[in-house]
Amino acid sequence: MSSTYKFKAETHKVLNILTHSLYTNREIFLRELLSNASDALDKLRFKQNKGESILAPELPLEIKISTDKESNILTVQDTGIGMTKQEMQDNLGIIAKSGSEKFLKDIGDTSCDSGKQKIDPYAEEEIVEKQEGAGADASQIIGRFGIGFYSVFMVADKVEVYSVPAIESVKEESEAKAHVWTSHGSDTFTITPLEEVAGLVRGTMIKIYLKDDAKEFIEEYRLENIIRRHSNFLPFSILLNDKVINTISALWREPKFNIKKEQYDEFYKFLTYDTENPFDVIHLSVDAPVQFNALLFIPEKSEDYFLEQKDQWGLDLYVRRVLIEKNRQELLPNYFAFVKGVVDTEDLPLNISRETLQENIVLKKISQTIVRQLMSHFEKMAAQDKEKYNTFWNKHGKYFKFAFNDFVYRDRVAKLMRFVSSGSEELLSLEEYVSRMKAGQKDIWYVSASSKEAAKLNPHMERFTRKGLEVLYLLEPVEEIALESLQKFNEYTFKNIETADARALDDFADVEKAESDLPKLSDLEKTEFEQMLERMKEVLGDKVKDVKSTDRLSGSPACMASQDGVSSTMEKLMRSFQK
Ligand code: ADP
Ligand code: MG
Repeated sequence: MSSTYKFKAETHKVLNILTHSLYTNREIFLRELLSNASDALDKLRFKQNKGESILAPELPLEIKISTDKESNILTVQDTGIGMTKQEMQDNLGIIAKSGSEKFLKDIGDTSCDSGKQKIDPYAEEEIVEKQEGAGADASQIIGRFGIGFYSVFMVADKVEVYSVPAIESVKEESEAKAHVWTSHGSDTFTITPLEEVAGLVRGTMIKIYLKDDAKEFIEEYRLENIIRRHSNFLPFSILLNDKVINTISALWREPKFNIKKEQYDEFYKFLTYDTENPFDVIHLSVDAPVQFNALLFIPEKSEDYFLEQKDQWGLDLYVRRVLIEKNRQELLPNYFAFVKGVVDTEDLPLNISRETLQENIVLKKISQTIVRQLMSHFEKMAAQDKEKYNTFWNKHGKYFKFAFNDFVYRDRVAKLMRFVSSGSEELLSLEEYVSRMKAGQKDIWYVSASSKEAAKLNPHMERFTRKGLEVLYLLEPVEEIALESLQKFNEYTFKNIETADARALDDFADVEKAESDLPKLSDLEKTEFEQMLERMKEVLGDKVKDVKSTDRLSGSPACMASQDGVSSTMEKLMRSFQK
């Protein structure tokens, strides 16, 4: 007859694996305990809102951390929902059992089914904006995996969890008022009833007996630093030895219509250490294809994100108000390097390793959604407020123009690009250029130069000026690369004036008289001219392919030209690559 047996695991080994491989960074134990405390407070508030009567309702909802340097004991205490004896046994006694997940199930919140919806990274779903103010209550609860608590054994020899449940009715008849759960992170734990716990009226108090090699976590500055970094935006006050540490709220989670400009400004400065207000704010609240909130800022000043600030871009990633990583670069393509901000999602677990596939798919989806939203944001700005858009372009266009490389958006990016030109003092879009083209013009002409002045002086410009044809001035090499790679805008081909063939402009009449009409050359002069060209070829040798006479020029004596369709800027660029 066959029997079924349960697997047995040696708890201390499992704990060891958990705490050493799931978390590479010991300090996050505090993040996990604070997240649990915040969950406990949320649950209490939830029950209270439902009309249940709670113990000591006058107590504030807060988290207190205190340090005892002499005995190396760190205490984390909350006035939250607390635990009964049974709950301690279940939630702290079984690894990977989450009391929070059960709580969410009990109140009928289905968003906690781990593994959730399968996300297809390539599907182009419709973006669904969150309905503001809709049932936000339970969505703040952070935990759902039942692993976080054990990370405390990375730093502790022994842990005592004292708890007084806030709701009387959940206890068994004869049960004591309080209990203490004690463990050394080995195979056993004990639970002892207590008549009362000094300093604990309601909620949970965790005493952490720090390991010898973890004494750094008794230092106030160290703790303050960890709290600010990971747990600054929890919705309850965190006091460290009676001083409040977290003072700014998670603005991204609040309904947009409630937020004033000053709050955005303050948050931006807090986030970036910038002294100026942001140029623009984009607040996103998305429910599908992935759930996330994002608060994005366009700064006034542009920095050099390609060189000096190489790793200083990306968005800060939060899971339910708890920081996972700063400057997460997967959340933005590099052409949006100038965008600052935070993303907060409920679709990622707090404590799962970074490399997991599903996680990357979630990040990819979030990133794609953000890019789509930013593109539409800039399109709207360009259409509704030209001046603002041009200011934006002058500030950040040098990054944004690299978006021509993104095949999903290249046509939209072409429309968003702005240029200076021979015919306009203002920035010009390609659509505007096209609308001003001469009848019969099939090409969009451009010239590369280091400045507007240099472009004007390019001898190749003469014919175009004479014919009244507008020419785009490309002042950065990337612009020429962009136009060459786009090839066309609508049905018009991009062409460099330096590689235009001699007859290309014959269809267009002169609008300006040439500065000096070429005099007829005598036969003798013609021979002398030919000789001079020969002599020039000799002197220049293989530095040039050919020296020829031309009737393209009027004001300039000579110009450089290319026959292979490669412009002088491209040649320079190619030569610099060969070095
Ligand atoms: P998770 O937070 O993912 O559920 P944890 O391992 O962090 O998993 O915590 C396990 C469970 O222990 C929680 O779900 C909760 O039920 C309980 N718990 C932990 N800390 C507290 C606390 N401060 N107050 C009340 N319950 C707690
Ligand atoms: Mg937790």
